[in-house]
Amino acid sequence: MLPFGSRPTPRPACPFCGTAVGRPPEGFSLEDGEYHKALCTCKAAVGYDDSGVRQGAMLMELLVFICGGDWDRALDLDEADYEIRHLEGYRAAEHRMSRGDVRAGSSQGAFLFVKLAAD
Ligand SMILES: [Zn+2]
Repeated sequence: MLPFGSRPTPRPACPFCGTAVGRPPEGFSLEDGEYHKALCTCKAAVGYDDSGVRQGAMLMELLVFICGGDWDRALDLDEADYEIRHLEGYRAAEHRMSRGDVRAGSSQGAFLFVKLAAD
């Protein structure tokens, strides 16, 4: 329960287009890889990490995902070929973002969004 008078914090949304992000793993697939992944309507790949700390490995997986599983194409991508956005401080139990500071090492989840510049 929220304390009386406090407003709920926002639900997670795509930083590129503002589309609401579904509750992971609902709407998120785990085939081919270890991270929950989904595709936004704006073609951004969305990855979810419940620990919020392993985003390097997740980035590689999202690049392959956004390239349709084509590792060669993903490995050829230059940093100028894609854009990255982070959404940290996700509280899965409430499906809402945290307000204010997110403590490092906290158990809150994080979303990583990757969009190809060509799209
Ligand atoms: Zn989007």
